[in-house]
Amino acid sequence: MSDATVELVKAHLKQLRLPAMGQELEKLARDAASSNQSYEQFLLRLTEFELAARAANAVAARIKHAGFPVLKDLDTYDFSAMPGLSKPKVLELARGEWLAQNYNCCLIGSPGTGKTHLAVALGQAACREGYRVRFYTAAALVSRLEQAQKQYTLDRFLGQLDRADLLICDELGYVSFSCGGVELLFRVFTDRYERSSLLLTSNLAFSEWVQVFQGERMTAALLDRLTHRCHILEMNGESYRFRESMRGKRARKSE
Ligand code: ADP
Ligand code: MG
Repeated sequence: MSDATVELVKAHLKQLRLPAMGQELEKLARDAASSNQSYEQFLLRLTEFELAARAANAVAARIKHAGFPVLKDLDTYDFSAMPGLSKPKVLELARGEWLAQNYNCCLIGSPGTGKTHLAVALGQAACREGYRVRFYTAAALVSRLEQAQKQYTLDRFLGQLDRADLLICDELGYVSFSCGGVELLFRVFTDRYERSSLLLTSNLAFSEWVQVFQGERMTAALLDRLTHRCHILEMNGESYRFRESMRGKRARKSE
């Protein structure tokens, strides 16, 4: 291709909003010429680049939109530190079939055992599988719901939550809420029942949830729906953070 032709094709691709094809054009054209590819093969490879770039951009946009507090992944999760947790089960969840079936997932365990780490990792895996995800701590979600109610924008906010295939609610149980807050949270959770998925993390065993959802009746109703179709992972053990810092101290002592 002459320089003028290349520049013109690039300008057209830009106008057609096909940037990855524009970027790869010259390299792929050279490859195609040197390996005697047909025009169709060249075009196929060029369009494959555009599709791959679009898919990667869509995943990045879903991850950004999810609002994860940190970006932790499964490859940095040390399963040997949590022997009670089934690695195959977690890997199966990362494939996302539970989301297609509108199942829920609860990660229950003591502080520092990696619940947030796994919640984010599973959330990111869901984004990669094409699902829309929203991440909130329970406290942030309740305060956002209360704020929306005050500003008469509750329906709009509930609509946004509704569009998420997976709602992650982290740290249920650390702070207790007002009656109004609890009712809003209850509404969000029960609205999703059998329609979309919830991933909850909590330091409280189910028997202690009555502390959060003030009142036996509401707690029982919630747990009934939540756990009906639910993967429950118990993550009890020593805090990973604590163990790492003790290991650091021991190492420094022995130096
Ligand atoms: P939790 O939410 O259960 O309190 P976090 O997920 O916040 O715990 O974990 C605390 C810190 O320890 C984080 O930096 C997390 O990445 C790390 N962590 C916890 N468990 C593991 C693990 N098994 N492998 C690697 N890092 C871990
Ligand atoms: Mg946490």
